[in-house]
Amino acid sequence: MNYNRTYNFSAGPATMPEPVLEEIRDEMMNYRGSGMCVMEMSHRSPVYQQIIDEAEQDLRDLMHIPDNYKVLFIQGGATLQFAMIPMNLMKNGVACYVETGAWSKKAIAEARKYGSVHVAASSKDRNFCYVPDCSDLDIPENADYVYICENETIHGVTWNQLPNVKGHVLVSDQSSMFLSRPCNVSDYGLIYAGVQKNVGPAGMVVAIIREDLIREDLDPRTPIYMSYKTHADNGSMYNTPNCWAIYCCGKVFKYLKSIGGLKEMEKRNMDKAKVMYDFLDSSKMFTGTVDKKCRSLMNIPFVTGDKELDAKVVAAAKAAGYDNLKGHKSVGGLRASVYNAMPREGVAALVEFLKKFEAENS
Ligand SMILES: *Cc1c(COP(=O)(O)O)cnc(C)c1O
Repeated sequence: MNYNRTYNFSAGPATMPEPVLEEIRDEMMNYRGSGMCVMEMSHRSPVYQQIIDEAEQDLRDLMHIPDNYKVLFIQGGATLQFAMIPMNLMKNGVACYVETGAWSKKAIAEARKYGSVHVAASSKDRNFCYVPDCSDLDIPENADYVYICENETIHGVTWNQLPNVKGHVLVSDQSSMFLSRPCNVSDYGLIYAGVQKNVGPAGMVVAIIREDLIREDLDPRTPIYMSYKTHADNGSMYNTPNCWAIYCCGKVFKYLKSIGGLKEMEKRNMDKAKVMYDFLDSSKMFTGTVDKKCRSLMNIPFVTGDKELDAKVVAAAKAAGYDNLKGHKSVGGLRASVYNAMPREGVAALVEFLKKFEAENS
Protein backbone atom coordinates (compact mmCIF):
# COMPACT_ATOMS: atom_id res chain seq x y z
CA MET A 1 0.00 0.00 0.00
CA ASN A 2 1.23 3.53 -0.74
CA TYR A 3 0.98 5.77 2.31
CA ASN A 4 2.96 8.58 0.68
CA ARG A 5 5.62 8.25 3.38
CA THR A 6 8.92 10.07 3.20
CA TYR A 7 12.31 8.42 3.59
CA ASN A 8 12.97 9.55 7.14
CA PHE A 9 16.65 9.85 8.09
CA SER A 10 15.92 11.17 11.59
CA ALA A 11 18.37 10.30 14.37
CA GLY A 12 15.48 9.69 16.75
CA PRO A 13 12.62 9.19 17.20
CA ALA A 14 13.19 7.41 13.95
CA THR A 15 11.71 5.30 11.23
CA MET A 16 10.07 1.97 12.16
CA PRO A 17 9.47 -1.13 10.02
CA GLU A 18 6.32 -0.68 7.93
CA PRO A 19 5.01 -4.21 8.56
CA VAL A 20 5.12 -3.42 12.29
CA LEU A 21 3.24 -0.15 11.86
CA GLU A 22 0.62 -1.94 9.79
CA GLU A 23 0.13 -4.60 12.46
CA ILE A 24 -0.25 -1.92 15.11
CA ARG A 25 -2.81 -0.16 12.92
CA ASP A 26 -4.76 -3.39 12.50
CA GLU A 27 -4.86 -3.99 16.25
CA MET A 28 -5.57 -0.39 17.19
CA MET A 29 -9.30 -0.50 17.91
CA ASN A 30 -9.57 -4.01 19.30
CA TYR A 31 -6.45 -5.90 20.36
CA ARG A 32 -7.03 -9.56 19.55
CA GLY A 33 -10.59 -9.74 20.80
CA SER A 34 -9.90 -7.93 24.07
CA GLY A 35 -12.35 -5.23 23.00
CA MET A 36 -9.84 -2.46 23.58
CA CYS A 37 -6.66 -0.83 22.35
CA VAL A 38 -3.40 -1.69 24.12
CA MET A 39 -3.26 1.99 25.17
CA GLU A 40 -6.48 1.49 27.13
CA MET A 41 -5.54 -1.72 28.88
CA SER A 42 -4.67 -2.36 32.52
CA HIS A 43 -1.05 -3.33 32.85
CA ARG A 44 -2.21 -5.86 35.47
CA SER A 45 -4.45 -7.69 33.00
CA PRO A 46 -3.53 -11.19 31.75
CA VAL A 47 -3.69 -9.98 28.16
CA TYR A 48 -1.09 -7.29 28.89
CA GLN A 49 1.05 -9.67 30.94
CA GLN A 50 1.34 -11.82 27.85
CA ILE A 51 2.45 -8.82 25.77
CA ILE A 52 5.29 -7.91 28.15
CA ASP A 53 6.34 -11.53 28.71
CA GLU A 54 6.58 -12.17 24.98
CA ALA A 55 8.48 -8.93 24.42
CA GLU A 56 11.07 -9.98 26.98
CA GLN A 57 11.33 -13.53 25.66
CA ASP A 58 11.69 -12.40 22.05
CA LEU A 59 14.46 -10.00 23.04
CA ARG A 60 16.17 -12.78 25.00
CA ASP A 61 15.97 -15.03 21.92
CA LEU A 62 17.29 -12.33 19.59
CA MET A 63 20.31 -11.42 21.73
CA HIS A 64 20.82 -14.85 23.31
CA ILE A 65 20.69 -13.19 26.72
CA PRO A 66 22.06 -15.51 29.42
CA ASP A 67 19.76 -16.47 32.33
CA ASN A 68 21.82 -14.54 34.87
CA TYR A 69 20.87 -11.25 33.22
CA LYS A 70 17.65 -9.35 33.91
CA VAL A 71 15.83 -7.53 31.12
CA LEU A 72 14.23 -4.33 32.41
CA PHE A 73 11.88 -1.87 30.73
CA ILE A 74 12.39 1.53 32.38
CA GLN A 75 11.06 5.01 31.65
CA GLY A 76 13.01 8.27 31.66
CA GLY A 77 14.92 7.67 28.45
CA ALA A 78 18.61 6.98 28.15
CA THR A 79 19.21 10.24 30.02
CA LEU A 80 17.86 8.85 33.30
CA GLN A 81 20.37 6.01 33.00
CA PHE A 82 23.22 8.55 33.09
CA ALA A 83 22.28 9.00 36.77
CA MET A 84 20.87 5.56 37.55
CA ILE A 85 24.12 3.85 36.58
CA PRO A 86 26.36 5.65 39.09
CA MET A 87 23.60 5.58 41.73
CA ASN A 88 23.37 1.81 41.48
CA LEU A 89 26.80 0.62 40.40
CA MET A 90 29.15 2.91 42.31
CA LYS A 91 30.03 0.92 45.41
CA ASN A 92 33.46 2.44 45.82
CA GLY A 93 32.34 5.75 44.36
CA VAL A 94 34.78 5.47 41.45
CA ALA A 95 34.15 4.88 37.77
CA CYS A 96 36.10 5.00 34.54
CA TYR A 97 34.61 6.60 31.41
CA VAL A 98 35.75 6.84 27.81
CA GLU A 99 34.81 10.11 26.14
CA THR A 100 33.96 9.63 22.46
CA GLY A 101 31.32 12.26 21.76
CA ALA A 102 28.25 14.16 22.89
CA TRP A 103 26.46 11.30 24.65
CA SER A 104 29.41 9.98 26.64
CA LYS A 105 30.15 13.58 27.64
CA LYS A 106 26.66 13.93 29.08
CA ALA A 107 26.99 10.63 30.92
CA ILE A 108 30.31 11.78 32.40
CA ALA A 109 28.85 15.08 33.61
CA GLU A 110 25.97 13.28 35.32
CA ALA A 111 28.19 10.62 36.92
CA ARG A 112 30.41 13.33 38.43
CA LYS A 113 27.49 14.23 40.71
CA TYR A 114 27.76 10.84 42.38
CA GLY A 115 31.41 10.00 42.63
CA SER A 116 34.88 10.25 41.26
CA VAL A 117 34.98 9.89 37.50
CA HIS A 118 38.21 9.03 35.75
CA VAL A 119 38.20 9.75 32.01
CA ALA A 120 40.68 7.18 30.79
CA ALA A 121 40.65 8.13 27.12
CA SER A 122 39.10 10.79 24.93
CA SER A 123 38.86 11.67 21.26
CA LYS A 124 38.08 15.32 21.95
CA ASP A 125 41.33 16.42 20.27
CA ARG A 126 39.79 15.82 16.83
CA ASN A 127 36.17 16.70 17.60
CA PHE A 128 35.28 13.06 18.33
CA CYS A 129 35.85 11.65 14.85
CA TYR A 130 37.38 8.39 16.10
CA VAL A 131 37.46 5.91 18.99
CA PRO A 132 40.71 6.06 20.96
CA ASP A 133 42.88 2.99 21.43
CA CYS A 134 41.49 1.29 24.54
CA SER A 135 43.64 -1.83 24.63
CA ASP A 136 45.59 -0.65 27.68
CA LEU A 137 43.53 1.88 29.60
CA ASP A 138 44.65 3.36 32.86
CA ILE A 139 41.74 2.08 34.97
CA PRO A 140 41.75 2.87 38.71
CA GLU A 141 42.06 -0.36 40.69
CA ASN A 142 38.85 0.33 42.62
CA ALA A 143 36.75 1.50 39.65
CA ASP A 144 33.28 0.02 39.92
CA TYR A 145 32.82 -0.02 36.16
CA VAL A 146 34.12 1.14 32.78
CA TYR A 147 31.60 3.09 30.72
CA ILE A 148 31.38 3.52 26.96
CA CYS A 149 28.86 4.87 24.48
CA GLU A 150 29.07 2.17 21.85
CA ASN A 151 27.68 4.29 19.04
CA GLU A 152 27.86 8.07 19.27
CA THR A 153 24.67 9.14 17.52
CA ILE A 154 25.73 12.74 16.93
CA HIS A 155 29.35 12.20 15.93
CA GLY A 156 28.72 9.00 13.98
CA VAL A 157 31.48 7.04 15.67
CA THR A 158 31.17 3.38 16.62
CA TRP A 159 33.21 0.86 18.61
CA ASN A 160 34.23 -2.14 16.54
CA GLN A 161 36.30 -3.60 19.36
CA LEU A 162 35.34 -3.33 23.00
CA PRO A 163 37.83 -1.79 25.44
CA ASN A 164 40.10 -4.01 27.48
CA VAL A 165 38.39 -3.51 30.85
CA LYS A 166 40.97 -5.58 32.73
CA GLY A 167 38.42 -7.48 34.76
CA HIS A 168 36.19 -4.52 35.53
CA VAL A 169 32.49 -4.36 34.73
CA LEU A 170 31.69 -2.96 31.28
CA VAL A 171 28.67 -0.65 30.93
CA SER A 172 27.52 0.32 27.45
CA ASP A 173 25.07 2.84 26.04
CA GLN A 174 23.84 1.05 22.92
CA SER A 175 20.93 3.42 22.24
CA SER A 176 21.65 4.10 18.61
CA MET A 177 22.99 0.67 17.66
CA PHE A 178 20.84 -1.64 19.76
CA LEU A 179 19.96 -4.78 17.77
CA SER A 180 21.87 -3.58 14.72
CA ARG A 181 24.31 -6.48 14.93
CA PRO A 182 24.96 -9.55 17.10
CA CYS A 183 26.09 -8.76 20.63
CA ASN A 184 27.82 -11.02 23.12
CA VAL A 185 25.89 -10.01 26.22
CA SER A 186 28.25 -11.73 28.64
CA ASP A 187 31.01 -9.26 27.71
CA TYR A 188 29.02 -6.64 29.59
CA GLY A 189 27.71 -6.02 33.09
CA LEU A 190 25.05 -3.64 31.86
CA ILE A 191 23.78 -2.76 28.39
CA TYR A 192 21.11 -0.16 27.96
CA ALA A 193 19.36 1.52 25.07
CA GLY A 194 16.77 4.21 24.63
CA VAL A 195 14.40 2.50 22.23
CA GLN A 196 13.39 5.50 20.11
CA LYS A 197 16.51 5.26 17.97
CA ASN A 198 16.57 1.76 16.60
CA VAL A 199 13.48 0.03 17.95
CA GLY A 200 10.22 1.77 18.74
CA PRO A 201 8.44 4.82 20.16
CA ALA A 202 10.12 7.23 22.60
CA GLY A 203 9.86 7.05 26.37
CA MET A 204 11.56 3.84 27.32
CA VAL A 205 14.89 2.22 27.90
CA VAL A 206 15.76 -1.45 27.78
CA ALA A 207 18.36 -2.33 30.40
CA ILE A 208 20.07 -5.70 30.39
CA ILE A 209 21.88 -6.13 33.68
CA ARG A 210 23.88 -8.95 35.23
CA GLU A 211 22.07 -10.07 38.37
CA ASP A 212 24.99 -9.72 40.75
CA LEU A 213 25.15 -5.99 39.95
CA ILE A 214 21.64 -5.41 41.30
CA ARG A 215 22.10 -4.11 44.84
CA GLU A 216 19.87 -3.28 47.75
CA ASP A 217 22.33 -1.27 49.83
CA LEU A 218 21.85 1.98 47.94
CA ASP A 219 21.83 5.43 49.48
CA PRO A 220 18.48 5.43 51.33
CA ARG A 221 17.53 8.67 49.62
CA THR A 222 17.63 7.00 46.19
CA PRO A 223 14.20 7.39 44.58
CA ILE A 224 12.56 3.98 44.50
CA TYR A 225 12.12 4.27 40.73
CA MET A 226 15.87 4.68 40.28
CA SER A 227 16.88 1.41 41.85
CA TYR A 228 17.41 -1.45 39.38
CA LYS A 229 16.23 -3.79 42.12
CA THR A 230 12.78 -2.18 42.09
CA HIS A 231 12.37 -2.99 38.42
CA ALA A 232 14.00 -6.41 38.63
CA ASP A 233 11.84 -7.54 41.57
CA ASN A 234 8.64 -6.44 39.91
CA GLY A 235 9.00 -7.63 36.33
CA SER A 236 9.38 -4.00 35.15
CA MET A 237 5.93 -3.27 36.59
CA TYR A 238 6.53 -1.75 40.02
CA ASN A 239 4.45 1.14 38.72
CA THR A 240 2.67 1.56 35.41
CA PRO A 241 5.26 0.92 32.72
CA ASN A 242 5.31 2.47 29.26
CA CYS A 243 2.76 -0.12 28.10
CA TRP A 244 2.55 1.22 24.59
CA ALA A 245 6.30 1.31 23.96
CA ILE A 246 6.68 -2.22 25.32
CA TYR A 247 3.95 -3.42 22.97
CA CYS A 248 5.47 -1.71 19.92
CA CYS A 249 9.02 -2.83 20.76
CA GLY A 250 7.76 -6.38 21.21
CA LYS A 251 6.47 -6.28 17.66
CA VAL A 252 9.83 -5.06 16.39
CA PHE A 253 11.60 -7.89 18.26
CA LYS A 254 9.30 -10.42 16.57
CA TYR A 255 9.86 -8.76 13.21
CA LEU A 256 13.65 -8.99 13.63
CA LYS A 257 13.33 -12.67 14.50
CA SER A 258 11.19 -13.23 11.42
CA ILE A 259 13.78 -11.78 9.04
CA GLY A 260 16.56 -13.98 10.44
CA GLY A 261 17.76 -12.25 13.61
CA LEU A 262 20.74 -10.03 14.29
CA LYS A 263 23.21 -11.71 11.90
CA GLU A 264 20.89 -10.99 9.01
CA MET A 265 20.25 -7.49 10.34
CA GLU A 266 23.99 -6.82 10.49
CA LYS A 267 24.41 -8.03 6.92
CA ARG A 268 21.69 -5.71 5.70
CA ASN A 269 23.06 -2.79 7.73
CA MET A 270 26.59 -3.26 6.36
CA ASP A 271 25.30 -3.48 2.84
CA LYS A 272 23.17 -0.38 3.32
CA ALA A 273 25.84 1.77 4.97
CA LYS A 274 28.31 0.78 2.24
CA VAL A 275 26.06 2.38 -0.39
CA MET A 276 26.36 5.68 1.47
CA TYR A 277 30.06 5.45 2.37
CA ASP A 278 31.07 4.41 -1.16
CA PHE A 279 29.32 7.49 -2.44
CA LEU A 280 30.98 9.77 0.15
CA ASP A 281 34.40 8.32 -0.72
CA SER A 282 33.91 9.04 -4.42
CA SER A 283 32.19 12.42 -4.16
CA LYS A 284 34.04 15.69 -4.68
CA MET A 285 31.34 17.72 -2.95
CA PHE A 286 30.55 15.60 0.12
CA THR A 287 32.92 14.07 2.66
CA GLY A 288 32.34 11.84 5.68
CA THR A 289 33.60 13.29 8.96
CA VAL A 290 34.65 10.07 10.73
CA ASP A 291 37.83 7.99 10.48
CA LYS A 292 37.10 4.96 8.29
CA LYS A 293 37.65 2.28 10.89
CA CYS A 294 35.18 3.81 13.37
CA ARG A 295 32.40 4.72 10.97
CA SER A 296 28.94 4.01 12.32
CA LEU A 297 26.59 1.73 10.42
CA MET A 298 23.71 3.74 11.84
CA ASN A 299 24.51 7.47 11.85
CA ILE A 300 26.45 8.91 8.94
CA PRO A 301 27.54 12.54 9.28
CA PHE A 302 28.91 14.32 6.22
CA VAL A 303 29.71 17.85 5.08
CA THR A 304 30.24 19.92 1.97
CA GLY A 305 32.60 22.27 3.80
CA ASP A 306 30.27 25.21 3.10
CA LYS A 307 27.47 25.95 5.56
CA GLU A 308 25.21 27.60 3.00
CA LEU A 309 25.58 24.72 0.62
CA ASP A 310 24.86 22.25 3.45
CA ALA A 311 21.59 24.08 4.17
CA LYS A 312 20.71 24.10 0.49
CA VAL A 313 21.19 20.31 0.25
CA VAL A 314 19.03 19.72 3.33
CA ALA A 315 16.20 21.85 1.93
CA ALA A 316 16.39 20.34 -1.56
CA ALA A 317 16.49 16.82 -0.07
CA LYS A 318 13.41 17.46 2.04
CA ALA A 319 11.53 18.74 -0.97
CA ALA A 320 12.51 15.58 -2.86
CA GLY A 321 11.26 13.24 -0.10
CA TYR A 322 14.37 12.70 2.05
CA ASP A 323 13.68 14.20 5.43
CA ASN A 324 15.68 15.03 8.59
CA LEU A 325 19.13 15.21 7.03
CA LYS A 326 20.32 18.27 8.92
CA GLY A 327 23.41 17.47 10.98
CA HIS A 328 23.57 18.14 14.70
CA LYS A 329 24.84 21.65 15.43
CA SER A 330 28.00 20.36 17.15
CA VAL A 331 29.17 18.68 13.93
CA GLY A 332 27.30 20.73 11.33
CA GLY A 333 26.64 19.62 7.80
CA LEU A 334 24.36 16.68 7.26
CA ARG A 335 23.64 13.38 8.92
CA ALA A 336 21.83 10.38 7.50
CA SER A 337 20.62 8.02 10.19
CA VAL A 338 20.11 4.66 8.53
CA TYR A 339 18.76 2.50 11.33
CA ASN A 340 17.50 -1.07 11.00
CA ALA A 341 14.16 0.04 9.59
CA MET A 342 15.61 2.17 6.80
CA PRO A 343 15.42 0.06 3.63
CA ARG A 344 18.41 -0.19 1.29
CA GLU A 345 16.26 1.42 -1.42
CA GLY A 346 15.96 4.52 0.78
CA VAL A 347 19.73 4.90 0.99
CA ALA A 348 20.23 4.14 -2.70
CA ALA A 349 17.62 6.74 -3.63
CA LEU A 350 19.24 9.31 -1.36
CA VAL A 351 22.62 8.66 -2.98
CA GLU A 352 21.11 9.13 -6.44
CA PHE A 353 19.62 12.41 -5.25
CA LEU A 354 22.97 13.60 -3.84
CA LYS A 355 24.80 12.64 -7.03
CA LYS A 356 22.35 14.64 -9.08
CA PHE A 357 22.64 17.57 -6.68
CA GLU A 358 26.40 17.45 -6.97
CA ALA A 359 26.29 17.36 -10.77
CA GLU A 360 23.94 20.31 -10.91
CA ASN A 361 25.74 22.42 -8.32
CA SER A 362 29.42 22.11 -9.05
C1 LIG B 1 19.46 9.73 22.08
C2 LIG B 1 20.54 9.19 22.91
C3 LIG B 1 20.55 9.35 24.31
C4 LIG B 1 19.48 10.11 25.05
O1 LIG B 1 18.24 9.49 24.90
P1 LIG B 1 16.93 10.03 25.62
O2 LIG B 1 16.04 8.86 25.55
O3 LIG B 1 16.45 11.20 24.82
O4 LIG B 1 17.27 10.41 27.01
C5 LIG B 1 21.59 8.79 25.00
N1 LIG B 1 22.57 8.11 24.39
C6 LIG B 1 22.59 7.94 23.06
C7 LIG B 1 23.71 7.18 22.42
C8 LIG B 1 21.58 8.47 22.27
O5 LIG B 1 21.60 8.30 20.94
